[in-house]
Amino acid sequence: MPEFTTAQVHAGETREAAHGARVTPIYLTAGFEFDSFANAEERFGGDVPGYTYSRSGNPTAASLERRVAALEGGREAIAVGSGQAALTVALLGLVQSGDHLLSAQSVYSGTRGLFETGLKRLGVQVEFVDGPGDPEEWRRRIRPNTRALFGESIGNPGNDVLDIAAVADVAHQNGLPLIVDNTLATPYLLQPGEHGADIVVHSASKFLGGHGSALGGVVVDQGSYDWGVSPFEHLRAPDDWLHGDSYVGAYGRGAYIAFARSVVASLFGPVLSPVNAFLIQQGIETLSLRLRQQSDTALAVARWLERKPEVASVDYAGLESHPSHDLARRYLPRGAGAILGFTLVGGAAAAQRFYDAVTLFSRMTHIGDVRSLILHPATTTHAHLQRDVREATGIGDGLLRLSIGLEDPTDLIADLERGIAAVTGQAGVAATTATTPNREPRLVVAAGN
Ligand SMILES: *Cc1c(COP(=O)(O)O)cnc(C)c1O
Repeated sequence: MPEFTTAQVHAGETREAAHGARVTPIYLTAGFEFDSFANAEERFGGDVPGYTYSRSGNPTAASLERRVAALEGGREAIAVGSGQAALTVALLGLVQSGDHLLSAQSVYSGTRGLFETGLKRLGVQVEFVDGPGDPEEWRRRIRPNTRALFGESIGNPGNDVLDIAAVADVAHQNGLPLIVDNTLATPYLLQPGEHGADIVVHSASKFLGGHGSALGGVVVDQGSYDWGVSPFEHLRAPDDWLHGDSYVGAYGRGAYIAFARSVVASLFGPVLSPVNAFLIQQGIETLSLRLRQQSDTALAVARWLERKPEVASVDYAGLESHPSHDLARRYLPRGAGAILGFTLVGGAAAAQRFYDAVTLFSRMTHIGDVRSLILHPATTTHAHLQRDVREATGIGDGLLRLSIGLEDPTDLIADLERGIAAVTGQAGVAATTATTPNREPRLVVAAGN
């Protein structure tokens, strides 16, 4: 396996033979022509390699799948239309009505919605572990019908880092797989599979794509979990589509991803457009450069915010003051990522003034963009939660979340200074009293939305 930065530009690429196109082309086609009557039957039956219809496989998407699998050190991946689709496919590949999942408390709001609304209607129960840092609680709360443990490598916006190795041990001692959403860390900062995660999920709409232009999602099977001795009967039972063979019989360690692809993704149908697969792959080629710089800038911004009297607390695992700092040092030696939260002393009113005062940060619900973004979770992504649940996940009225992009840190801090000035009633003088007195902010950017 080549080094990460080599793999991010080469792994999985398709060398197109007809014209020698160097970049994997966008194969924007619904279907693929069969050579003959016999060839159609063979390709459908999987007896000869080749694509049939883009809902079940497409060369541009396949190239992305191979690249993400390589970067995660995984066995095989499947790319789908969004991060939510990736979570849905990953979980519906495992659970059925009557099953139970155990999740860390602080998960992405869409994931929580999927658990509490989407899966609940299908008869799948999800429970949340209150102290995800306590392996004993995970162990205690496993039930006979629990089918998997779930967590995020870095929680958002609280920045709590999952002790993947500890939770993986509990999962494996109980014969269960651990699923980790690695969206915030990306494989450049952390490979959950190295620490025992069996399935890794991504919203590729965030850092993998990086440009904020295309949605996508990826599920990676690390190849570590033995589906043949698992509680997943649907992978071990004879299946009509496999002419009476089982997924384990036909695919061995690849049973789960084959089922997730041919039954869940292909029949529920959350297909990734080949255009989006192309854009995400383009993004991945600069992943290490972006994450390195975005992590460095996020740390500088976090340190700056921490010194402000108007700021009550800063949630960034790269800070020594953060409860996950030791875990971050262990799991995230290259940087603690680009997402941070901070809580203003003045609560909701201060958050509103701050939010409306910035001009370089874009007011958006998105993360992982090359542009810096700001969000007030309590009134947007987390507005539907009961106050006590919301506050239990660390989201108070004064909390703002930042996704740090690639702008110069000086300009970002000058913009945050504008927010602080609005909070203290100093708006108007803010732009000229930024941290670098000798240097006016160079950029005057209209507020993005
Ligand atoms: C955004 C996000 C998702 C959902 O991804 P989409 O591409 O928006 O569907 C899932 N998990 C995490 C951690 C995310 O940040």
